[in-house]
Amino acid sequence: MSRRRKNFSCGHKGFGQICHKCAQQEAARTQKQQDKHAWEATFACDPIDLKSLPKNVVIKARKIIQGLQHQKNYREFHGKRLRHDRFIISIPVTRHYRLLCRDCGTFVAPEAVISHEDYNVCKPGS
Ligand SMILES: [Zn+2]
Repeated sequence: MSRRRKNFSCGHKGFGQICHKCAQQEAARTQKQQDKHAWEATFACDPIDLKSLPKNVVIKARKIIQGLQHQKNYREFHGKRLRHDRFIISIPVTRHYRLLCRDCGTFVAPEAVISHEDYNVCKPGS
């Protein structure tokens, strides 16, 4: 067994049969991919599409959606009915996003999470 540092084909220097720097980088990359896949898999459980949203918005929106599914009142989340459509309820998620829900009588169904910019664009009459 030689303990001489050698040059690996990747350009790193080190001991042993394989480059440990590259092995570590590869492991980190694999971990990152697994985390990404695990995160993407969580969207399958959402009643509405949240994929395009920032992670913190997704997490907060899910909390609200779960609360609504457990019969919590939208007012607990500071939700308000829209003035031009009383069946639509707007609940703030973060400073920049809000969750739109439809009042279905016995329950409140989430419809979409939109940014304030989108919200202002689709508001009729403005
Ligand atoms: Zn290497």
